[in-house]
Amino acid sequence: MSGNLTFTMIKPDAFRAGNSGAIIKIIIEAGYGIRAMKLTRLSERKAGQFYNIHKERPFYKDLCAYMSSGPIIPIVLVKENAVEDFRKLIGATDPTKAEKGTIRQMFAKSIEANAIHGSDSDDNALIEGNFFFSELEKFYQD
Ligand code: ADP
Ligand code: MG
Repeated sequence: MSGNLTFTMIKPDAFRAGNSGAIIKIIIEAGYGIRAMKLTRLSERKAGQFYNIHKERPFYKDLCAYMSSGPIIPIVLVKENAVEDFRKLIGATDPTKAEKGTIRQMFAKSIEANAIHGSDSDDNALIEGNFFFSELEKFYQD
């Protein structure tokens, strides 16, 4: 059974361009509830931990530099079938391949600076949410 929680993050390019509000509005209008959200910034080392799964990929070092280049907004979201539906809402990793109307098609600058993150599984949604929010379970009591 699929879970009702996912994790997202407005990335530095979207924050820098002033698109955070527009993106969050789209997410809320798509039916997601916000369970945790903050404005923060990753060190290069922390970005490396978050993207550890990609450490062997050629783009890893650049990705860590980019992800620590400015503020980000990590957000925990709830909705039925959250992970799969959210991946559809944000679109393909490469914005030139993202469907029209998806967040990445509208706001991403490049395959690296692609505006927004979306968890790829229920397990990773929990791991990623806990990476940024230390007492996440408290947000689920309502
Ligand atoms: P997604 O974010 O769509 O799940 P991945 O997990 O494959 O994509 O990659 C994580 C992040 O790494 C991407 O969102 C993007 O910022 C960056 N990235 C992925 N592929 C490339 C690439 N070929 N070149 C540069 N950056 C990339
Ligand atoms: Mg991914």
